[in-house]
Amino acid sequence: MDQDDNQLQFDAQGNLRHLLSLQGIDRSLLTEILNDAESYLTEPGAPPARGTSLAGRTVGNLFFEPSTRTRASFDLAGRRLGADVLNLDVNTSSRKKGESILDTIYTLEAMHVDVMVVRDASDGVPAYIARNVKDHVSVLNAGESDVSHPTQGLLDVLTIRQHNPDFANMAVAIVGDIQHSRVATSASQALQTLGVGELRLISPPALAPDAERFPGARIVDNIAAGLKDADVVIALRIQRERIGNLDGVPGIDEYFSNFGVSTENMKHAKPNAIVMHPGPMNRGIEIEGALADGPRSVITQQVTNGVAVRMAVLKRIGKRMSGQ
Ligand code: ASP
Repeated sequence: MDQDDNQLQFDAQGNLRHLLSLQGIDRSLLTEILNDAESYLTEPGAPPARGTSLAGRTVGNLFFEPSTRTRASFDLAGRRLGADVLNLDVNTSSRKKGESILDTIYTLEAMHVDVMVVRDASDGVPAYIARNVKDHVSVLNAGESDVSHPTQGLLDVLTIRQHNPDFANMAVAIVGDIQHSRVATSASQALQTLGVGELRLISPPALAPDAERFPGARIVDNIAAGLKDADVVIALRIQRERIGNLDGVPGIDEYFSNFGVSTENMKHAKPNAIVMHPGPMNRGIEIEGALADGPRSVITQQVTNGVAVRMAVLKRIGKRMSGQ
């Protein structure tokens, strides 16, 4: 993201208006969002937290790529803060019929949609929309191509902080298709902002990222070396929809034994290391099913935290809209 897009995230008073990327979100703002999210968590079985920061507002979920968790959690987060939520399905939307994205946006603005939550397979779409909406409208990036997924990065660092708040003395290993992963990018940005001690990115050479996208990270192609004494292990799916040619990517069995996060491979990590995955999971490919369901896994906690961080972001946006 360039400097202009970064500026675009804030209004003239320096308040967060759009969330397009975690690049440019400083440590104090990141921490405030995580603390707000924490305040929205309730005990299992207790009613979910609610608020009124978005009362009278309308949130539009515009998902031009498939989604389960992100879309459902933005939907719940918006409703729990008092908003009307409109879920626009790509299969029924006019974008499929060739309507330009801006015509779709102007149509929604005319219906008083105040917050556009956007997922798209192309680079730059959330920032493009943010540059073209009316002054009171906010745009939240819910997954942009292989570029960024800021609310996923927030929920990932919240989950890690609940396990261990000492980021400076922590080694985090991200394993899988780093090259095509927006999750890896956003998690890395948030971790670096919070001063993570060590960040290791583990993948087969064919799925390794450009080093400049991950300043300060160590790129590794051996899972035993990458997981050695790690505190946190994040497994990622192979983003087949973004890979034209799978040449050089190991077949399933070889992939699982060399790059799968498994009980066996976790022996290299610290004994109390946690296992994370953003979903959707492919059991037996990038993660072992028993490990995903076992005591080291915090995968369902990530999902719970996803609603809370989206509420925290929406609350800020709602307060700005009402001038508070
Ligand atoms: N759900 C995540 C994303 O939207 C991870 C994935 O799809 O693999 O990027």
